[in-house]
Amino acid sequence: MQRTPPEFSLLGQLEDQLTSLSDQQLRRQLREVQTPTAPSMVVDGESLTAFCSNDYLGLASDPRVIEALREGALRYGAGSGASHLISGHSIAHAALEARLAEMQASHLINPRALFFSTGYMANLAVLTALAGKDADIFSEALNHASLIDGARLSRARVTIYTRDDLPALDRQLASSTATTKLVVTDSVFSMEGAIAPLPELLALCERHQAWLVVDDAHGFGVLGEHGAGVLQHFGLRSPQLVYIGTLGKAAGVAGAFVAAHATVIEWLVQRARTYIYTTATPPAIAHALLTSLDIISGSDGIARRQKLQAHIEQLRSALRLRQWRLLVSETPIQAILIGANQASVQAGESLRAQGLWVAAIRPPTVPKDTARLRITLSAAHESEQIAHLANAIGDMEEL
Ligand SMILES: *Cc1c(COP(=O)(O)O)cnc(C)c1O
Repeated sequence: MQRTPPEFSLLGQLEDQLTSLSDQQLRRQLREVQTPTAPSMVVDGESLTAFCSNDYLGLASDPRVIEALREGALRYGAGSGASHLISGHSIAHAALEARLAEMQASHLINPRALFFSTGYMANLAVLTALAGKDADIFSEALNHASLIDGARLSRARVTIYTRDDLPALDRQLASSTATTKLVVTDSVFSMEGAIAPLPELLALCERHQAWLVVDDAHGFGVLGEHGAGVLQHFGLRSPQLVYIGTLGKAAGVAGAFVAAHATVIEWLVQRARTYIYTTATPPAIAHALLTSLDIISGSDGIARRQKLQAHIEQLRSALRLRQWRLLVSETPIQAILIGANQASVQAGESLRAQGLWVAAIRPPTVPKDTARLRITLSAAHESEQIAHLANAIGDMEEL
């Protein structure tokens, strides 16, 4: 009698599950980009105009930022060698943190900022360090996976709310007896583009003595007159705000930061495991980011945000959809709701055949039956490229 070696049955289980993903049109594929991050890319040998990166200001390939990265590597070396609390914390990290705290200074009380290797790590840090098993976390239904994971890892009690029903959130906050309460939200919902009602959320948090944790991954660099993000956009200020910005999207490089009252930040330094138990990001990255921040907050940043805004308006007015629905959004994330997985994948493929790269987003990234095309615009696009995209989508809907 022949027995199947155990490793084969284990692989067999995975293969069955992968086949099932393929059958449901849910199997994802890696594509290899051969050129720098920019609207024109060569991907697996094909030349495409990309509408799927989050490089909203076109800084990922900006010569000044690239030069600063090179200069940072020459000055500080390639790697940091250790975690921040051992020997990895460089003057470049400290300078970046000071600059980031300054950018949020009008919105926080006694602000300090802490640099993280990724937004994912920053979100885990905030939720696990501020909330323990006796805390209550109120988490918006559309929040990013890293906030969901942070809430789970914290072992706090998690209540899901939606921005459409703030009176329910008000009641839930009122009935909470936890000493620590956190309301947690994306600022710009990453699969829709809509902006969260932060002034209303902050008023609720102030009434109920709760922290408001804002993940501004898609707002930092894009929103606010000087690109400081969503707090600047709304002109908010409170000691109860905990702000997370990421630096791999509009800032064009990598990493993330938390900005809050200095006491909150000091607590993260002491307790956040995703800060403490990981090697510090190379100082050259922090050095390059100083140049990105100069661009974001200066006149060039203002001009880039104006160009981006013009692209958003151009796309929205050129798209005249009949069956599909363009979601409400004033940000560079523009989503077209299609519904079925297969139709959305087909739409993505048909655009690609015309040289346009748009992400078809399916569950589990979005809820079942809400598959969609997610277009992201950049100041690096040209108006002709936006027109080409709008025409291609219009033609496709006629079929
Ligand atoms: C991209 C993103 C993150 C993760 O940031 P990384 O720096 O890419 O790890 C967190 N939250 C939201 C809303 C995001 O879109």
